[in-house]
Amino acid sequence: MNSTAPQLPAHPVLAGQKALVTGANSGIGRAIAVALGAAGADVVVNYVVGDDAARAVVDEIRGHGVNAIAIKADVSSEADVERMFAEAIRELGTIDVLVANAGLQRDSAFHEMTIEQWNTVLNINLTGQFLCARAAVREFMRRGVVPSVSCAAGKIICMSSVHQTIPWAGHTNYATSKGGIKLLMESLAQEVAPLRIRVNGIAPGAIRTPINTSAWNTKAAYDRLMTLVPYGRIGEPEDIARAAVWLASDHSDYVVGTTLYVDGGMTLYPGFATGG
Ligand code: NAD
Repeated sequence: MNSTAPQLPAHPVLAGQKALVTGANSGIGRAIAVALGAAGADVVVNYVVGDDAARAVVDEIRGHGVNAIAIKADVSSEADVERMFAEAIRELGTIDVLVANAGLQRDSAFHEMTIEQWNTVLNINLTGQFLCARAAVREFMRRGVVPSVSCAAGKIICMSSVHQTIPWAGHTNYATSKGGIKLLMESLAQEVAPLRIRVNGIAPGAIRTPINTSAWNTKAAYDRLMTLVPYGRIGEPEDIARAAVWLASDHSDYVVGTTLYVDGGMTLYPGFATGG
């Protein structure tokens, strides 16, 4: 029987594609934006504060010989997200890849958590992904599949966390947002797969970024963190960026509605390694 798997283009794997990465002037989003550019995509660098950092990412991406632009927008604002996609499509022609990455923590013991802490995390981490994914799906539906660019009409990568699975005391708002992302991603993937739109998630473990500095910036903290990571090292933003490039490319064309855990084994219940 003839294979129905697509013939894949030679490298770079994202040549001719246009990607938008939210929260792309720091940490994981920054690494993903640069890696997508290195893989041949033109890239929109979304950010909310930090003009200089965003400009630096744009310059680094352009160093790979592709186009990049920075767009300031708050992903939790419907008006901002609509304006951002309109500007991105006007500047680059279309969007083929969305990496919904922007996110933050506002940690608190549950009994002291304020409604502001709860709403801020849910609005940015979860509603922000809804707003960006909706705008992306509308553009993918308008344009459809362009076979010379990609087998798919579009790809969405939702940045989740191991905390879509692992409960996290003291971080109820954050874990709730990531659990929500899991079913947002899966339900959307089911709905739009017939349109040849692929939606997947990445669940990072402990990655060395500004969001969790206190978990790795002293030896004692790092050693404590390593009791949770069977592979014995912290993750780097590039570990996530490589996964994102693969999920954005036609190399993962049959991967639909999956969460890729990139966590050094954190979700393997390391506490049970010596019996339970
Ligand atoms: P980071 O703080 O370095 O980056 C977060 C980015 O999101 C920044 O660019 C920030 O400006 C942006 N952002 C925040 N609010 C925004 C808003 N309203 N609109 C647009 N952008 C906004 O942290 P990071 O570790 O790179 O986190 C990136 C994503 O990865 C988050 O969704 C986070 O939950 C997830 N994650 C991180 C880890 C980790 O260990 N670092 C683990 C699991 C999941």
